Amino acid sequence: MNRDPETLFSHDAYGDALRAAIDALPEFDGPYTGASYDELETQISNTDPLPESGSGLATACTEAEQVLADSVDVTDTACIAHLQCPPVAPAIAAEALIAATNQSLDSFDQAPAATALEQRMVERLCSVFGFAEGDGVFTSGGTESNLQGLLLARDVALEARGIDPRRDGLTGAEDFRILCSEAAHFTATQAARILGLGESAVVEVPTDEDDRIALNALDELLDSFETTDETPIALVATAGTTDFGAIDPLAALADRTVEHDLWFHIDAAYGGALAFSERHKHKLDGIDRADSISVDFHKLLYQPLGCGAFLVKESGSFETLARDVAYLDPEGDGPPNLVAKSLRTSRRFDALKPYLTFRALGSDTIASFAEHTIALAAEAGDIVRTTPDLELATEPQLTTVVFRHTGAANPDELNETIRERLFDDGTAVLARTEVDGDVYLKFTLLNPKITRRNLETLFQHVCEAAATPEVVA
Ligand SMILES: *Cc1c(COP(=O)(O)O)cnc(C)c1O
Repeated sequence: MNRDPETLFSHDAYGDALRAAIDALPEFDGPYTGASYDELETQISNTDPLPESGSGLATACTEAEQVLADSVDVTDTACIAHLQCPPVAPAIAAEALIAATNQSLDSFDQAPAATALEQRMVERLCSVFGFAEGDGVFTSGGTESNLQGLLLARDVALEARGIDPRRDGLTGAEDFRILCSEAAHFTATQAARILGLGESAVVEVPTDEDDRIALNALDELLDSFETTDETPIALVATAGTTDFGAIDPLAALADRTVEHDLWFHIDAAYGGALAFSERHKHKLDGIDRADSISVDFHKLLYQPLGCGAFLVKESGSFETLARDVAYLDPEGDGPPNLVAKSLRTSRRFDALKPYLTFRALGSDTIASFAEHTIALAAEAGDIVRTTPDLELATEPQLTTVVFRHTGAANPDELNETIRERLFDDGTAVLARTEVDGDVYLKFTLLNPKITRRNLETLFQHVCEAAATPEVVA
């Protein structure tokens, strides 16, 4: 390959690189090859990832293809462990354009069109979620969005006490408490730790039989704070819990946050996609009353990692993040520098992915994918209910199915083994989870290609894996 900078950084060379990438995209044969970490480590230890002289694009791509062959195939209908979606084709085109144009969303002069387009995307998202005066920013995903939501909650609460968190840091916040459900994503607790409030500042609200925040339990907790020196500052609701897809009673929770003056953050990383579905959007009723929302595009909206958005109801909420940096127009009278709203500095133009996807396919198509998998999860529930030895943890609520095989004296070990066995022999990639301390298997259905027939086969594999002699012994 020609190593002349003139050609390496040219339009033609980018085109060649894209074609080489197409050729290197592995054609998978099943959800996984079953390679173990030890095998992969040994194979890869023979290559030097930082050689002094290169062997050219074609060779490097061929080598990469060999490595990538031991990836899980996220487009395979038996690769259904986690909230890891098959990316939809237009988003792959966007991904290439993002890399090749390499705009950085921190300042307008590094991303003129991208700044305007992300702003427009955020404006439309705000209208989809019912924020008339809202604003937002693209993030790497739910982790960053949740951190940002709780950061604003903390700073608003400090400011209400006359403390300037920007200047003085975390003082006088020992009594702050953040409420979230036992089923909330671990990143809510992680955010409390990162924000210096400590994990002990998080108070878990018990859930009902559907894994939703139990309102009576929440009310009792809120009452109990009146007689302690603890001060609740925020309530985190979840729209789509990771295991059961449960959506907390958002409107009823919104009432409590008004009554008790709490920041209301809704983690809709998974379930936020329902906002695009005429059939399911009513399940998010009350989401427009949040102070902030996390929504991920790299889950039920079929974008490649990472692509999330963080939205706020009041555009002024971002003020506490503003920075005085000489190269970023501190006077603020020019075009916007989106770094002012982000926890990151250099930032990819990830908004181009949903932009190109929705422009190409329309929200109807994207919503129909989610609708299909929701209907399919319900069917999977029916199959489990009518299959001997299989037991549902609870009715599917979104697109997950949590169940276990009960055909052994030690079901925990049995289900553990089923999962490992199917992974190791490359039959299926399933998840494990625990429900009240018991081990369960989980399907996370995102792939719109999955059919009822695929599901029947999958459950059959589960039952066969359970029936092999070594497992029963
Ligand atoms: C996936 C998920 C997260 C974490 O988001 P990332 O995009 O992985 O950073 C947080 N909350 C919920 C409910 C999720 O589903």
